Amino acid sequence: MHLLNADLHCHSNISDGTLTPEALAARAQAHGVELWSLTDHDEIGGQQRARDAALALGLDYVTGTEISVSFAGQTVHIVGLGFDADDAALRQGLAATRSGRRERAQQMAEGLAQAGIRGAFEGALRYVGNPELISRTHFARFLVETGVCADTHSVFRRYLTEGHPGYVPHAWARLGDAVRWIVEAGGVAVVAHPGRYRFSPTEEYALFTEFIAHGGRAVEVMTGSHSAAEHIRYAEAALEFGLLASRGSDFHSPGESRTELGALPDLPGRLTPVWEALAPRIQRAAA
Ligand code: AMP
Ligand code: MN
Ligand code: MN
Ligand code: MN
Repeated sequence: MHLLNADLHCHSNISDGTLTPEALAARAQAHGVELWSLTDHDEIGGQQRARDAALALGLDYVTGTEISVSFAGQTVHIVGLGFDADDAALRQGLAATRSGRRERAQQMAEGLAQAGIRGAFEGALRYVGNPELISRTHFARFLVETGVCADTHSVFRRYLTEGHPGYVPHAWARLGDAVRWIVEAGGVAVVAHPGRYRFSPTEEYALFTEFIAHGGRAVEVMTGSHSAAEHIRYAEAALEFGLLASRGSDFHSPGESRTELGALPDLPGRLTPVWEALAPRIQRAAA
């Protein structure tokens, strides 16, 4: 049986990826993706370009974003799929979620300056494609370019995570608000890469139950952020909580991302793919 090659999570230079929406569409198609979504952080400014490029290449498209949420003292990411990109409340919610990023970046640069790294704000800005979306990833690229660290992962470990000089705690959207913006815009909300969080079992249970209570319906099972053991663990969680299952590479950049577009294993057959619920929201390319 042929399973659909769906890749429902990746980033363009409108958030913290390095490729344009058009280049990503071409790369997705070249790697065999059949249903694609661009899910920039807190931003849907690339949706029209991604959709137009995908449909012109014969690639089916569904709208996407990845919303930053604060939950139980950690940052959690909620992917939204298949929403109406013109929905006013969703657009306002995303704008509000983006709004603190510039000031946070200035504070991050101050922390780095105290650790002896000067000019990080201006340096990070050189990598930014969207002035409303300065991310830690842009700082990481600057610190690799200037030779402070060998790769972006070590920048996060040494400078950009809790307890390190460039880390600034930030209040993102509330879980219930993010889910509501997506659902009320006609979309499906998805818990992104649950294996990345450092929750206790009780906190993780609370995340899933509250997410579902707010109207969330899906979880990423196959993601570039999960190990093989986590693929199994969250397949079990999808069944236990009655959630639809999603699949997405979380591709950011050819040099940095460990998982290529369209290259993940298929979802285990006993799960219900999120694209079954998305069917009416998929924009189909002409055959
Ligand atoms: P921000 O939204 O500014 O907090 O940045 C979060 C982004 O940083 C994530 O979406 C990832 O792209 C990236 N990121 C987080 N942790 C790591 C890590 N350990 N190594 C590389 N990139 C990371
Ligand atoms: Mn990212
Ligand atoms: Mn994420
Ligand atoms: Mn992502």
